[in-house]
Amino acid sequence: MKTCQVSVVVPCFNEDEVIEAFHRALVSVLEPTRRTFEICYVDDGSSDRTRARIGSLATADRRVRYTSFSRNFGKEAAMLAGLRMSRGDAVVLMDADLQHPPELLPRMLELRQRGYDQVVARRDRTGEGALRTLLSTAYYRAMGRCMDVSVIDGEGDFRLLSRTAVDAVLALPETNRFSKGIFSWIGFDTAAFTYRNVRRAAGSSKWGGRNLLNYGIDGLISFNTRPLRLAIHAGLALALAALGYALWIIADVALHGVGVPGYTTLLTAVVALGGIQLATLGVIGEYVGRIYCETKHRPHYVVRESSESPHVSSNVPASDSASASVDAG
Ligand code: UDP
Ligand code: MG
Repeated sequence: MKTCQVSVVVPCFNEDEVIEAFHRALVSVLEPTRRTFEICYVDDGSSDRTRARIGSLATADRRVRYTSFSRNFGKEAAMLAGLRMSRGDAVVLMDADLQHPPELLPRMLELRQRGYDQVVARRDRTGEGALRTLLSTAYYRAMGRCMDVSVIDGEGDFRLLSRTAVDAVLALPETNRFSKGIFSWIGFDTAAFTYRNVRRAAGSSKWGGRNLLNYGIDGLISFNTRPLRLAIHAGLALALAALGYALWIIADVALHGVGVPGYTTLLTAVVALGGIQLATLGVIGEYVGRIYCETKHRPHYVVRESSESPHVSSNVPASDSASASVDAG
C-alpha cells in the first residue's frame, strides 16, 4: 500500500453496535472517489466485541488495518496511534458512531486538492440540550480569552490533515495531549465548513459531565501558563488593596486615635487570602503534576495486537508495534 492516497483513522471504544454500519457507510463513500485508501481502526481497549469485529473487517478487506490497546487509554491516545499507523498522503480523523458523516469526505478531499493542509468539518449544535449548548458556548468564550491558541466552538477532531500536517502533529512529544489545541498550534492553511449535527447512530457517548469538565481543565492548562499569570495578577491586586487599606488605617489612627479593632475585617481578609492561596497552589500543583507526568516518559498506550502482528495476543506488544507503543516522544 505504498501509494495510499487517503487514510481514515477511527478511534473506537465499545462501538460494537455501530462499527459495521459505519464501515459500510465509509467504504461506500470512499470507493467512488477512485482514490487508494486504507482505514485504520484503533480499538481503545473495548470491553465489548469491537476488537473481534475490527479483526474480521481486517481479515475480509486488505484496506483495513487496526491496532488494539491493552486497556482503555482514551481517545487522544487512540488518535495518536491511528496517526502513527496511517500511511496516506491525506489523513482523515473521524468518530465511529456516524456522528461524523462519511458523506462529507469527498468535499474534504476536494478542499485538500485545492491546497489546504487542514480541512475541518465544524458541527453546529442542532439537537443538543440547551444546558450543554450554554455551557459549551461559555467554555469556548473563556478558552478564547485564556488560551494562546484559538479553539473554535464546534471544531473537533473531524478533520483532514495533509501528510505534512500529520508529521507536524507527530513531532509534538507531549504526554498530556489536547488535540484541539495541537491542531490549532501547528498552523498551516486551514479550510472549514459547517455541517448539521447528528445524533449517534447507536451505542452511547463516553463523555459524561465529569469527563467533560476534566477535558475542559486539560484544555485550559495544556496550552499555556496564563492561569499562573492570572494568579500573579490576583496576588498583586490584593497586595495593592492591602497596602491601600493599611495606609487608610494609619491615617485614621493619626487623625482619630486608636479605635476598636475590626475583627470582621481581619477575619474576612484572612479567609479570603487563605482561599486565594489555596486556589493558586492548586493551579501550580496542576502544572507540577503535568511536569511529573512528562518526566516519566511513559508511552501513550500499550498495544495488545495489531493487523501487522495478528497472532500476538498477550499484553507484551509485538516487536513492530512496540516502536509505536513505547515511543513516548
Ligand atoms: N473513544 C475512544 N476512547 C474513549 C472514548 C471515546 O476511542 O475513551 C472514541 C469513540 O469510540 C468514538 C469517538 O471516540 O469513536 C467519540 O466518542 P463519543 O461518541 O463517545 O463522544 P461524543 O461524540 O459524545 O463527544
Ligand atoms: Mg459521538
